[in-house]
Amino acid sequence: MIHLKKILNIKKIINSIFSSCTYIIHSELSNCCSIIDCGDINPICEYVYENSLKVDNVFLTHTHFDHIYGINELYDRFPKITVYTAEYGKEALYSDKKNLSKYYEQSIIFKGKTVEILNEGNSVKLFDNTFLTAYETPGHCSSSLVYVLEEIIFTGDAFIPGKKVVTNLPKGDKMLANSSIEKIKILAMGKRIMAGHSVNMNSR
Ligand SMILES: [Zn+2]
Repeated sequence: MIHLKKILNIKKIINSIFSSCTYIIHSELSNCCSIIDCGDINPICEYVYENSLKVDNVFLTHTHFDHIYGINELYDRFPKITVYTAEYGKEALYSDKKNLSKYYEQSIIFKGKTVEILNEGNSVKLFDNTFLTAYETPGHCSSSLVYVLEEIIFTGDAFIPGKKVVTNLPKGDKMLANSSIEKIKILAMGKRIMAGHSVNMNSR
């Protein structure tokens, strides 16, 4: 648990598939919360119910299967959620080929309709005076976004400290990944990095 300015709380969950990470962001001043990526549904719901929260937003760092596989169960419990992703991410939420779930044990096609596209520099208000800002960081996937929230940066699989960025999956691009890494290093200056996988685990 990390406390930011004594108001924001961020809960990290390490998921069962490929040790991808989900983060739950909430404020002591509100019962709304936002989620970064959506893996195992049970730990998310346990935390959300324990803290009497409701989920408003889901921000996707990218739409690979291991970062979205809980999205439909989350939608069943919180049908008013808005999902935020890049333009390609929106396509991939509705294509099990593009989100790669077709090649794993379960096919994921998002059942919800409320998907908002975020472009470079777009900000979304989470709480009073608290904004999350998206930056486009393609290379690992065309849908890759990083999110800056005060002194935290959520980097997904576009930058995992100590790990090489995976670029050999569909829509991966090594050159784009390298320039995204340079961009992220600048964005991350003075910030704490919260990556898309637990370190020393496989990233996809
Ligand atoms: Zn990935």
